[in-house]
Amino acid sequence: MGVLGVAAASAALLAAASKAPPKLLVVTVTKGFRHDSIATIEKVLQGLADSSKAFTLDYARTDEDLAAKAAVKALAAYDGVVFASTTGDLPLPDRDGFIAWIAEGHAFVGIHAATDTFPGFPGFLDMIGGQFKHHGPQTNVEAFVRDATHPATRDLPKAFTVFDEIYQFQRYDPARVHVLLAMTKHPETREDGEFPLAWTREQGRGRVFYTALGHREDVLQAGWYKWHLMGGIRWALGLDAAS
Ligand SMILES: [Zn+2]
Repeated sequence: MGVLGVAAASAALLAAASKAPPKLLVVTVTKGFRHDSIATIEKVLQGLADSSKAFTLDYARTDEDLAAKAAVKALAAYDGVVFASTTGDLPLPDRDGFIAWIAEGHAFVGIHAATDTFPGFPGFLDMIGGQFKHHGPQTNVEAFVRDATHPATRDLPKAFTVFDEIYQFQRYDPARVHVLLAMTKHPETREDGEFPLAWTREQGRGRVFYTALGHREDVLQAGWYKWHLMGGIRWALGLDAAS
């Protein structure tokens, strides 16, 4: 290979490096209830990353990991975060700085108990769009797709039944979110209403995707759930626009 060939090869390598897929920090630290299914969430996320090559993952599993990887300066290594059934008041080095970092144009993906995180930090609850209030016994509910064009729901049946632990929310205002999935009956009383299961919102230039589903391992491992999560991640990372 001549000098020009080497230069061309180097340029190609540089171009490939600059196109590295986005990187997500998966947070699994819990300070309240700890779901056994967190291990399954990690496996499902890693499977989606490996099979799609659309993003890569790093993990914050301990307080020490959070201190090292979720400090505002360290977050520069990531394009977004996944809160995988996190609970309680996490020891984030700079909570307000973390919310500001999302608003700068980064992705936030919340799974199931993510809304049971930071009960004492309104900035987080306002960012995620609701706070876990209550769940009854695991039950069958009918879920209705409210946005059939969004990447997180467009591949789902328009209505389907799911058996899972179903959350009710407080600090939730439908005017502040874009609902993707909802129930029309209260999961316990069966009263009529509109009860959200998944939504998105924008936090400044950042994109927030939350799904309340995913308590049970069989739900997390279902094909439809993987499409749902993958679509939510791609949307939050700006890889797949909602039409
Ligand atoms: Zn749960």
